[in-house]
Amino acid sequence: MLKAVRDKADKTWTWFKKTLVFMSCWGLVFSLVTIGELRVGFDYDDTIVFSTPAFAKAFKSAHQPFSPGFWTVVNQSYDVEERKLLPNVLAWTFRILGFRVSIISARPSYGGEALQKEWRYLAHDFIFSNGSTNKHRYLTKGNYVLYFGDSDSDILEGRKAKVLSFRVKRGSKSSYKEDYHPGALREIVIPFTEF
Ligand SMILES: [Mg+2]
Repeated sequence: MLKAVRDKADKTWTWFKKTLVFMSCWGLVFSLVTIGELRVGFDYDDTIVFSTPAFAKAFKSAHQPFSPGFWTVVNQSYDVEERKLLPNVLAWTFRILGFRVSIISARPSYGGEALQKEWRYLAHDFIFSNGSTNKHRYLTKGNYVLYFGDSDSDILEGRKAKVLSFRVKRGSKSSYKEDYHPGALREIVIPFTEF
């Protein structure tokens, strides 16, 4: 009986010590990352979300494709977008480790306030770069250490800004087929990010 109690106490103590070590490690990483104000960037369309349904909705609307009205529909249709599992887990992991998370979308900002608000828990900044070749301008501001994106242009923009860039896979159901040759730039392609 006494032995059982002692075993239980030992186990609890070991668990307590392990937790303490784990918390200390996390605390150390968190402090260093926070003090360094380190940032990680994520592209939005086909990286953080599967957004083809939002684009489909805008194409079906009365607005001229790629007009301000069209982009307003896209930016306000986040209810039909689907969050991609692994990229979101990745982004949250960085956030918990103390990184400042930015979402950098190539879209123009028309009607985008609600979308920025929707992502405020995950992302410290939601940036509309208004063009896929403008992203390096944002990636050079602040201490970005990593960038994740699905398009060839994402990898090129990240490299232009001297930020280590990783490829997220595009879902096979995405209607956007251009600017996508994973691995062709000898970048690291993250498996299982297409879902
Ligand atoms: Mg994209």
